[in-house]
Amino acid sequence: SIPLGYFGGIGAASRNGILFKGSNYLDVMAAVQNVVMDKTGTLTKGVFAVQEVVLQPGFDEADLLPMVNALESKSTHPVATAIREYLGAKAVPLEVREMEEIAGHGLAGTVTGKRLLVGNFRLLRKFNIAFDTAVEDIPLTVVAVAVDGVYAGMITIADVVKADAAEAIQALKRMGINTVMLSGDKSSVVKYVAERVGVAEAYGDLLPEDKVTRVKDIRAQKGSVAFVGDGVNDAPVIALSDAGIAMGGLGSDAAIETADIVIQNDQPSRIPMAVRIGRATKKIVW
Ligand code: ADP
Ligand code: MG
Repeated sequence: SIPLGYFGGIGAASRNGILFKGSNYLDVMAAVQNVVMDKTGTLTKGVFAVQEVVLQPGFDEADLLPMVNALESKSTHPVATAIREYLGAKAVPLEVREMEEIAGHGLAGTVTGKRLLVGNFRLLRKFNIAFDTAVEDIPLTVVAVAVDGVYAGMITIADVVKADAAEAIQALKRMGINTVMLSGDKSSVVKYVAERVGVAEAYGDLLPEDKVTRVKDIRAQKGSVAFVGDGVNDAPVIALSDAGIAMGGLGSDAAIETADIVIQNDQPSRIPMAVRIGRATKKIVW
């Protein structure tokens, strides 16, 4: 039979919007050694806003932007949502063929007969497209565009760090827990966010499979891992962690389904709270 303390712990957590899918995860959180987090949608709001459109000479916004919009209309990624919000008014129904979403890279497809690439610089490198590498260092997420094998320009977008992210990281550190941020976004953005929230370690430019490798390494070298994420891409890491935590508000169904713990209101401060409830429950049980 399950000791009464566990029911108290699960109840206290659920009243605070933290759903534990089993009492054993109270124990896991009580003793957790590393909290590993995704950036976009976990520590940041995951709601990007377009900052600027910078096209190369010879490319025209009126031609190009509706094509970008048409391709992004097929994706549910937060980056795609930002582009659609911004370009939506310019929407023209255009024929999109052979659309392919390449995880951690972006989109490729044929729009009105032209080969379009819309994604990060890694996507451009994958297709051997030349671009000015100086633009890689700006601390903004970049949606680069190539048309028929030629770099056409970029749309810069920015996300906002969640209000309680820094406070959540501080609380975890005070509890003696190692904090790590993993992201598919480029290093300059990752570094900027890492400094703002104060995580002990941060790694960018990671493909979904790189996140899996990182989490396995952390477990092998530094002990138990709670991983917090929100995306479809996060489901594999959520599955392999000692405690997989999903942001439930904006999170993908795959992440929520795979998770052991769901944070309903998406607030990072619920992570140290889950540890606190786990530790308090343990005192009552044992
Ligand atoms: P993360 O959630 O850590 O940012 P993802 O693997 O979801 O990681 O995405 C990594 C990067 O791939 C994004 O930061 C973005 O630059 C690019 N990307 C992914 N999907 C799209 C898309 N639909 N349009 C443009 N860029 C995209
Ligand atoms: Mg994500």
